[in-house]
Amino acid sequence: MQSFDYTPFFDNTLDELKAEGRYRSFATLTRQVGHFPSATLHTTQNAAKDVTIWCNNDYLGMGQSPVVLAAVQDGLATYGAGAGGTRNISGTTLAHVQLESCLADLHQKQAALVFSSGYVANEAALSTLARLLPDCLILSDAMNHASMIAGIRNSGADKQIFRHNDLEHLESLLALQPLNRPKIIAFESVYSMEGDIAPIAAICDLAETYGALTYLDEVHAVGMYGARGAGVAERDGVMDRVDMIEGTLGKAYGLMGGYVAGHATLIDTIRSHAPGFIFTTALPPAICMGAIASINHLKVSEIERERQRRNVRQLKAALTQSGVPFLVNDSHITPVIVGDATCCKTVTDILLNDYGLYVQPINYPTVPRGTERLRLTASAVHTPEQVAYMADTLADLWLNAHVFAQMRA
Ligand code: PLP
Repeated sequence: MQSFDYTPFFDNTLDELKAEGRYRSFATLTRQVGHFPSATLHTTQNAAKDVTIWCNNDYLGMGQSPVVLAAVQDGLATYGAGAGGTRNISGTTLAHVQLESCLADLHQKQAALVFSSGYVANEAALSTLARLLPDCLILSDAMNHASMIAGIRNSGADKQIFRHNDLEHLESLLALQPLNRPKIIAFESVYSMEGDIAPIAAICDLAETYGALTYLDEVHAVGMYGARGAGVAERDGVMDRVDMIEGTLGKAYGLMGGYVAGHATLIDTIRSHAPGFIFTTALPPAICMGAIASINHLKVSEIERERQRRNVRQLKAALTQSGVPFLVNDSHITPVIVGDATCCKTVTDILLNDYGLYVQPINYPTVPRGTERLRLTASAVHTPEQVAYMADTLADLWLNAHVFAQMRA
């Protein structure tokens, strides 16, 4: 008997991705500090060109903020490069503890807990809470991020999926359950691929009526919404009604890492039971120092948020005027639906090669098949000229490029 032939098997799986037009090729970039969203794109080992990035989640440019860079450098000088251990075994530094206090204060919660990423925070928190609660039922929005889905699956708990942002559907599912059954409603504030926003207050109303905990992912909102940048729940005046808020340090705060904030008992439970928190090296302390500086800056500064809103308004107004179709929403995310993986890649290749505009095509499984899209993120650090150039270029392609012919018809 012959042994299994591994390499051809995996080659085939990759060929399938290529045939569907959704094989992922990465753009190799050097971000230019002080000039982001400008970057150098390395097309080969020896060739490069300047591009403007239009798909980055360093939404406010904090990744190049002098305040943040100084804090990271200070952290490196104080603590060295790595934490050198798990949080339990010598990896907890003063910087970690201060960051967690800063986050608890941001969300006005009793406690917070930091993880290596937002993905890990969601997986660890949801899987732990739902696994420990007896006979827990998780009610999960249909558009929830892969990290929440992973946590829900890994908990082993029952789950029911409610139609995206559909309160009636959510209520119909809740109403069928005994009041005393533990339940968690898991949802996001700003949905990353659609850019639409959840009715947080109304979901909290339902949670109170039917005895559920609320778990809110504010990854695409923290830093940007609310008077102190705590997210949409802060903006809507309902932060105190959400049981657990999850966020990232890797997007608007410009670094990396994730966290949850909530009641001290819930946080202590996750700290004590979640493998994704326990069995991994702690974040580098210098990153924690940078995060504290970034969060504290955005607790008081409106400048970055105002610039981002200005650029988003300009982009959406220009696209509307020229008839380029995009998903209308109240957030900073501008999804332009192309609807086909190969066409999407063709459009982004034209933008990159002919105009120096870098937008990564978004394909299945990140979004459902048939809704492949460009996800444009106008940031606080794009200039009005850069926004106008992007909008004009897309308008020109929309009117004239062969790849859009079918959609125009
Ligand atoms: N939650 C949502 C809604 C996301 O879009 C993402 C990442 O893209 C995450 C969580 C994970 O956050 P991180 O990038 O910090 O791992």
